[in-house]
Amino acid sequence: MGEAALRGQTWDGEVHKVEQQSPSLVRVELGGDGLEGFRSLGAPDEACVFEFPVPAAAPGLVPNAGRWYSLHEVGPNSMALGIVQHPGGLASNWASKAKAGDTLRITRHKSWFRRPAAAAWQILLGDITAVPAIARIITESAHLLPTRAVIEIPDAGDQQDWPAARAADIEWMLNPQAPSRLSDLVRNLELPPGDGYIYVAGEVAETRAARKFLSRDLKLPNDSFGAVGYWRRGT
Ligand SMILES: Cc1cc2nc3c(=O)[nH]c(=O)nc-3n(C[C@H](O)[C@H](O)[C@H](O)COP(=O)(O)OP(=O)(O)OC[C@H]3O[C@@H](n4cnc5c(N)ncnc54)[C@H](O)[C@@H]3O)c2cc1C
Repeated sequence: MGEAALRGQTWDGEVHKVEQQSPSLVRVELGGDGLEGFRSLGAPDEACVFEFPVPAAAPGLVPNAGRWYSLHEVGPNSMALGIVQHPGGLASNWASKAKAGDTLRITRHKSWFRRPAAAAWQILLGDITAVPAIARIITESAHLLPTRAVIEIPDAGDQQDWPAARAADIEWMLNPQAPSRLSDLVRNLELPPGDGYIYVAGEVAETRAARKFLSRDLKLPNDSFGAVGYWRRGT
């Protein structure tokens, strides 16, 4: 796994812009001198742990204020996040009220996407939390190899279109208020011929079931897929 070389190093991102990107996603752009020296890992699903301020009224309720968010975009002294809106979340609540000038500390930086150079195709599956990462994977590589993506969204308005998306075959699956069906999607996959790469990201129980199916049932080699748990229902 790629990881920021300087362990223990931190950066401070200052909010420059906040916008409601879609019904479920808030886009937050961070910048400022506090990001000086921050370097992309070069992997399209790179993510960081951001320390969110704990509301003073409920200090005991949130033991750990660090939350992973993908870098949807990253450049010199700038990055953009897509934060899903859901009930009862520290980070989610923060994003709904975030404003220019707020700051977030970054304490970790890592990536998981390991597509072999020889992969003839890629399949990307995720729920709405994986939209920032999958959008970046598609933007950076769909022109290089056949790319299919299946993305679960809670609201039809979360379907997105951006120029590079047209290079991929994307299916937006509307799944409002329902438990994720990512593992079923993986079980029903029709794999193209040849060696490829499958990336699955979303709710932990679903990605764990997906990993088990790809490894034990399909007996795919470990380097031909990545299944990353992004969030855990109920905790
Ligand atoms: C590598 C990585 C990259 C990630 N990238 C993104 C990203 O780009 N965008 C993004 O939005 N998330 C992303 N996540 C997921 C995000 O870190 C979690 O959803 C996180 O728990 C949200 O924190 P919170 O403070 O809002 O909620 P928490 O305080 O952690 O949880 C509060 C409650 O909300 C529930 N919950 C948490 N997340 C969700 C959700 N998405 N939907 C419904 N219920 C939820 C929990 O089960 C809990 O009951 C990523 C996670 C990882 C590991």
